[in-house]
Amino acid sequence: MGARQYMQPYHVEVDIPHEPLYFVAINQCDEGGAMTGKKALIMVDLQNDFCMGGNLAVPGGDEVIPLANQLQPYFDLIIATQDWHPHDHMSFAANHPGRAVGEVIQVEELVQVLWPVHCVQDTKGAEFHPGLDLHRVNKIIHKGVNKHIDSYSAFFDNAHLRSTGLSDYLRDEQVNDVYIMGLATDYCVKYSSLDAVHEGFKVTVIQDACRGVELSQGDVRAALAAMRDAGVTLVACADIFNSSTARISKASR
Ligand SMILES: [Zn+2]
Repeated sequence: MGARQYMQPYHVEVDIPHEPLYFVAINQCDEGGAMTGKKALIMVDLQNDFCMGGNLAVPGGDEVIPLANQLQPYFDLIIATQDWHPHDHMSFAANHPGRAVGEVIQVEELVQVLWPVHCVQDTKGAEFHPGLDLHRVNKIIHKGVNKHIDSYSAFFDNAHLRSTGLSDYLRDEQVNDVYIMGLATDYCVKYSSLDAVHEGFKVTVIQDACRGVELSQGDVRAALAAMRDAGVTLVACADIFNSSTARISKASR
């Protein structure tokens, strides 16, 4: 089973008012008349294992699924990431005899948190949450596929050795603005955002459409601070829903 099977469209009711088409021209030109880029939404790891009942359930993870669906129409391009591990992945505590979940180990130069077995390729836990609307998704990015290294970011593995190809894809699609939501704030959302900044995109994190693991108290707050310090703009869903620029983008679809 590959990612392709998840692309089957199914109907999800989203109540979006129709926006007039005359906004389109405004959206696609800046004040000087030059073409501006597209806006992409990256939905990070909205998978069963990170939601209620999953092997690595993030508190409140399910709550962001309907938000992901409501946000999608406001963007030109939709990317969904999947944590996609082989069963013998190094991030699983079970693959380190004598180690427990939550322990932190050093693997060569990198600090590695040990997690429960999660998001194993082609298992139910790795599938997208059944409530997630996939019919607008333009691209699915698999990460963490190499058993020797973890990959919190949608762009690179944790050692920055191998790209997922997402940057090139976004550039090819003329995306300038990257909006990020999903699971979890203090890991995959954080590192995806920092890499997106590093790759030269204008990055916005939709804060209330993310949930954190909070392995240690304060992790989420620290992650948000680190993102902001790196140049990430933090917004709420309401800012997207109420923003004229977001509506413009929606109308241009
Ligand atoms: Zn993982």
